[in-house]
Amino acid sequence: MDLEVMNGLLRPKSVAVIGASNTEGKIGYSVIRSLIEGGYEGPVYPINLKSDEIQGFKAYKSVLEVPGEIDAAAIVVPARFVPQVTKECGEKGVKGLIIIASGFSEMGHSDLEKEVTDIARTYGMRVLGPNIVGILSNSDKCNASFAPCLPLPGKAALVSQSGALLIAMAASTYTRRVGFDRMISIGNMSDVNFADVVSWLDQDEATGCISLYIEGMKDGRRFMENVRKANKPVIALKSGSSKHGAAAAASHTGSLAGSGKVYDAAFEQAGVVQARDLTNLFDRTLAMSLQPPMQGENLLIVTNGGGVGVLATDSAERYGIPLRFAPEDVQAELRKYMPEFGSARNPVDLTGMAGRDWYQVSVQYSFAHDWVDGLVVLYCETAMTDPQDIAEGIKAAVDGSGVTDKPIAVSFVGGERSEAAMRWLVEHGIPAYNEPDTAVNAIAALREYARDQDTAQSFVRNEDVDEAAARAVIAKVRSEGDRDLTEWEARAVFKAYGLPVARMRLAATEDEAATAAAELDGPVVLKILSPDILHKSDAGGVKVNIQGEAAVRVAFREIIANAKSYRPDADIRGVVVQDLAKKGTEVILGSVNDATFGPMVMFGLGGIFVEILKDVTFRVAPISAKNALRMLSEISSAPILEGARGEAPSDRKALAEALSRYSQMIYDLRDEVKESDANPVLVHEEGEGVCVVDTRIILKKR
Ligand code: ADP
Ligand code: MG
Repeated sequence: MDLEVMNGLLRPKSVAVIGASNTEGKIGYSVIRSLIEGGYEGPVYPINLKSDEIQGFKAYKSVLEVPGEIDAAAIVVPARFVPQVTKECGEKGVKGLIIIASGFSEMGHSDLEKEVTDIARTYGMRVLGPNIVGILSNSDKCNASFAPCLPLPGKAALVSQSGALLIAMAASTYTRRVGFDRMISIGNMSDVNFADVVSWLDQDEATGCISLYIEGMKDGRRFMENVRKANKPVIALKSGSSKHGAAAAASHTGSLAGSGKVYDAAFEQAGVVQARDLTNLFDRTLAMSLQPPMQGENLLIVTNGGGVGVLATDSAERYGIPLRFAPEDVQAELRKYMPEFGSARNPVDLTGMAGRDWYQVSVQYSFAHDWVDGLVVLYCETAMTDPQDIAEGIKAAVDGSGVTDKPIAVSFVGGERSEAAMRWLVEHGIPAYNEPDTAVNAIAALREYARDQDTAQSFVRNEDVDEAAARAVIAKVRSEGDRDLTEWEARAVFKAYGLPVARMRLAATEDEAATAAAELDGPVVLKILSPDILHKSDAGGVKVNIQGEAAVRVAFREIIANAKSYRPDADIRGVVVQDLAKKGTEVILGSVNDATFGPMVMFGLGGIFVEILKDVTFRVAPISAKNALRMLSEISSAPILEGARGEAPSDRKALAEALSRYSQMIYDLRDEVKESDANPVLVHEEGEGVCVVDTRIILKKR
């Protein structure tokens, strides 16, 4: 990132407005108005072909006539004129273009958009947009946008793909009392995208927390990398589920990879905290811009009312930080500040008798205690107490504790006076909410952030793999024309990556099948071998648990006959004869090549219901075995692998190892493999390993 150019774009010391206007109602009017009303202190250069003066500023016919330097040019002329003015900006030495104008790729005019970006690139300019509202910053007193006002000042930064939403959010910061320093509209992202803005905001002193409204993105891996590198929390509201992969998917995994799950995975891996809706985005942003991450699992709740305490307890469990009882010394100390009928366990119920003093001492003591990792303080307005008094007590307690590395959130339930007290708290750096649930959810965001930072897993390659062998198999298949791999071929690829595949023999004839079964020496499975039949059972092409030569011969004949009547034109090459695997839990490993994040690995419980239950989880490949282990516990049916109802627990360690190797395989071969799966993989009891009995690889079409 060229910092000087990006600074010119996002913190311009001078601004030209190309298409500035004196006519109220025009965007070229609003942008100048916003600059004036925002208090912008740098030079403003309106560009207008007809007027010499725009809203009190001297106007110019072209940026080329402007005497001074121009950092950023906001462009509001019709789309067809944008290439020409872009060229002039380049000649002038403008650093960044804020292309507010619309009528580009969002309306199908991608060529025009590309033309503009290409011109900008040749001059070394960066482009924000097109199709945006502009940029807003309180610390720079810069509202270079057609949003009517700067947001309520604060430490958050909002980056929004939707312009209308950005304007609405800027306005609603005043009613929601959530402060932002910057708001950046990025629209079509023809050049500057989420990844760029995240790394720029990370070095920006005015920004404490980065909030994103995302509809879709390109270059997901670079975004993940930049978020991982950032030292500030990133929170995202992702909307829209695209249909990529879903419709014409040839494999099970493709149809399961709704973009929701893919983004969930990528965000968690990168450490992006998510918001479920706009309100949640504001609420979580408030906490994340004011409070540090929560480094451990011990949340303490202090309250004056049992009801809100129970509500918050439920919420804590819902948001993944279930309450534990406070240790004995904490309880003993806190019992001093409550009547007999109070409770010091957790939630700590000071009872309705609690006034400022009890709140203050108990909050100060517990916030400073080593056991406590985070605090939620609840208060129900009472006749005896003044909410403002309580608020000041809480603030004094936080200051008095000297603690700055743990989060606190507050919820007051009451009327006008409580509202006012909460506003005061927020102004003094303590997030406060109407609902106990919201306060707990906000603390949970800070916990999620810390947890994701901890577990950002670094992948270490398994070196004992034979990529060349895998590629040779694929090259051979390609040389035979446009087809996918047979099970026999796919198995060879999986084997090259060290996956534990079942023993297998090829048999083109009945006699060969009999010999193969004799060699394997035990019960076997016979399966049809044909590049044209990928779902073998559907074709009557799988016979399991076949014993003895006579049975093998019968099975062979039946399979071939079934396949021929299923697809008379199929290229049938015989059967594979496979060891019958020991009993085990059937799971599926799958992969897709996502348009945004590239190769993704999927895990779920296998069998015929996988597509109905959709109980699967994804990761951006490759992943370590440790990360794979976390996938295993993420699905709803996780208890089945852990040994539910007296069943022995499954060998999850071996399964995680297989997942990691598989993720490496699909990552290495991402230029060749479109989708793949291992379905099923049989997971045996702990210590007994796993066995891959069916594999499928679908190639990218050339
Ligand atoms: P397909 O998915 O193409 O229909 P599979 O090879 O997955 O064919 O076989 C269908 C089912 O047969 C599997 O889901 C599994 O339950 C069982 N099966 C297949 N191969 C074996 C094997 N080697 N050992 C035990 N069971 C097997
Ligand atoms: Mg199968």
